Amino acid sequence: MQFYLNNSSTKYLGCTLRYKRIVVDGCKLPRKSKPELLGGSLFHAMMAEVDDRHDFNYFTVVKKPVHWDEVNGNLAVRYAMLADKIYTEHPEWFKDCRREQVCEFPVTTIEVTNDKGEKIGVAVHYNFTPDLMYYDAEDDCVVIRDYKTTGKPINGDLFTKYALESQPFFYQLGLIWASIIVGNPLDLPPHWIKAILNERVKFGYVFINATVGESGQVVVQPLRFVDTNVLNRYRQDLSEKMQLAATLHIKPELASKEGIFTDACTYCEFRNVCAMNDPDREDMAMKHWPLGFKTYDPRIKEL
Ligand code: SF4
Repeated sequence: MQFYLNNSSTKYLGCTLRYKRIVVDGCKLPRKSKPELLGGSLFHAMMAEVDDRHDFNYFTVVKKPVHWDEVNGNLAVRYAMLADKIYTEHPEWFKDCRREQVCEFPVTTIEVTNDKGEKIGVAVHYNFTPDLMYYDAEDDCVVIRDYKTTGKPINGDLFTKYALESQPFFYQLGLIWASIIVGNPLDLPPHWIKAILNERVKFGYVFINATVGESGQVVVQPLRFVDTNVLNRYRQDLSEKMQLAATLHIKPELASKEGIFTDACTYCEFRNVCAMNDPDREDMAMKHWPLGFKTYDPRIKEL
């Protein structure tokens, strides 16, 4: 028995019923459909490939299947120009770098006792895909950059929202665990490993808005070392979440509507089902979930 733990699935645990439905049962979620969201996915795909070829062509360089008919053409062109601008203005980011590297490895096995009193080992597979990682020789550190595309103004509100994100901690912990516990499954060079083990990892977002003005807007957040004290608290919290997730995979019947007590229901895909407030009808609705089911696997990203 195994399951994937990624930054998104840890958020689903804010309501154990939501987690069960998405990760344990594999309910498919609505596909991104707004042009801005699709444009964002496209931008990420472009950043994974952009280089200094003069014939850089966003239509041919994106290797994933794209629903082009749903992407606003002008928006796609602007994203392509912004991808090119970032690459041209920050060539040092792309020298000793890894782009969109899928980082996935087993970190631990948790024992859960099932209803029959048997102990079941549940392997936890840590999973994350940093948009860009590079080694900064001047500062002897590994830098993680994450691209956030947005249709909203890039201002203090956006920075405040992302300041609360768990992503920097999830990623840094992943790099440390990959280097210590699992023996370099990412095949990182020795100077990267040394920096990671010395906790020399910096994180910063790059905000991109292609909908404003003629040329769009890019704001590069200053890099910061991930705070060790906060990281230690996060590590403890994450251990508890792993235990909870492992338990739900063996005993899914323990899941309940915790989202009611937080604001998790507001944006939840299952709110119409939960609003029935009738266990039998809710079970029936979930058996016939209209979007279908697919084994939860965060390694597969659809555009
Ligand atoms: S609607 Fe609320 S209670 Fe129901 S699964 Fe979603 S978050 Fe949980």
